[in-house]
Amino acid sequence: MPIKTVKFGGSSLADANQFKKVAAIINADPDRRFVVPSAPGKRFKEDTKVTDMLYDCYAAVDTDDFDRLFEAIKERFNGIIEGLGLDMSLEKEYEKIRNSMILHAGRDYAASRGEYLSGKILSYYLNIPFIDAAKVIFFREDGSFDSERTDEVLSEKLKQYEHAVIPGFYGVRPNDTIKTFSRGGSDITGAIVARAARADLYENWTDVSGFCAADPRIVENPKYIDVITYRELRELSYMGASVLHEDSIFPVRVAAIPINIRNTNSPDDKGTLIVDSIRDNLGATVTGIAGKKGFCSITVEKDMMNSAVGFGRKILQVFEKHGVSFEHIPSGIDSVSVVVTEASVAGKEKAIKEDIYSIIDPDRFELERDLALISVVGRGMVRKHGISAKLFTGLAEAGVNVRMIDQGASELNIIVGVSEKDFEKAIKAIYDSFNANGFFDVK
Ligand code: ASP
Repeated sequence: MPIKTVKFGGSSLADANQFKKVAAIINADPDRRFVVPSAPGKRFKEDTKVTDMLYDCYAAVDTDDFDRLFEAIKERFNGIIEGLGLDMSLEKEYEKIRNSMILHAGRDYAASRGEYLSGKILSYYLNIPFIDAAKVIFFREDGSFDSERTDEVLSEKLKQYEHAVIPGFYGVRPNDTIKTFSRGGSDITGAIVARAARADLYENWTDVSGFCAADPRIVENPKYIDVITYRELRELSYMGASVLHEDSIFPVRVAAIPINIRNTNSPDDKGTLIVDSIRDNLGATVTGIAGKKGFCSITVEKDMMNSAVGFGRKILQVFEKHGVSFEHIPSGIDSVSVVVTEASVAGKEKAIKEDIYSIIDPDRFELERDLALISVVGRGMVRKHGISAKLFTGLAEAGVNVRMIDQGASELNIIVGVSEKDFEKAIKAIYDSFNANGFFDVK
């Protein structure tokens, strides 16, 4: 029987009604054996996530505000218990947490109690055992995550359970104190549990039906991505798409476990499936578009550069010396442009220019700012002609001037550089042009 690990984000567990949806999802499929909950998130836009309430409460531990803030947290959980009609009480837990906070058990400890209590309720409600993450997720003395020890202990533990709830976001240090992952870290716990369970699928339940093919703040109602490979995902997230955090993908990627992003509020939607590789590269021609502002390009021109051996190395050495990593290096016969982030060269422009002059004495040196990069990503692009034609026609028709073009050696992406002021217009134009030609449709 296949094993699924399911992680539910804060919005999926924001109140009793959301808990009911979560229970229905879990109960609908006996393969959904290991459940990783977040702390209750926002119920409405102006609401506060329980994790933030816990941080605030801990910050106020020695002030008069503490009791009021602590009561508000209790109310959130009690509201869920009541709404579900459960005959359970967390009073003893609250008392313990309150006392530990007063004894300064740590900010991470305080924050972790959101997931802990959320997990306790879910375990009771679903009538499946609770495994405290502090017993199975380990950090090292230096605060780094100990993946080997965790995998060893957790995989043994999970073998003993048919079903279990393991709260997300935290684990334990060698000195027995609680440590959390970075914000949003329940995704990481979910991936760790999926790996340890040797799961066939890691379902990550959230409040959207997958990843969009373009930023919905720029493109109205973009299509959802059906299937995406880890490599494509990396390209898109590197270029600013808000997808899963790299750390949260790593444990399942090494184990080649697919991730399915699903929507708790629309459980019939298929969501986005993230896979290691796809046979025959099935899917859409173009998977997604993402972009970022804040780049600049430094162009160096020198007559007869094409025949001078070692020219590129010398230029790049200057960047290396100043600790600047480059993004792209489009080149012409007698010129090379080095595209870098504005932030990485800030304050170093003059020194870089001086070094380049002293090493290669160029005919021209130009620093162009306000560059935005847009990456068109798609494993299907190799087998389809006319992509570039549609891309550049779309941009031309929208009146966008293309300042740079670079096609990744993998043919997985095409990168265009435009002025920052044209950024949104360019993304829209590319999306519309591809959409009109069915490039996002699954073939
Ligand atoms: N509750 C934590 C946060 O708000 C972790 C998570 O939800 O993934 O960051």
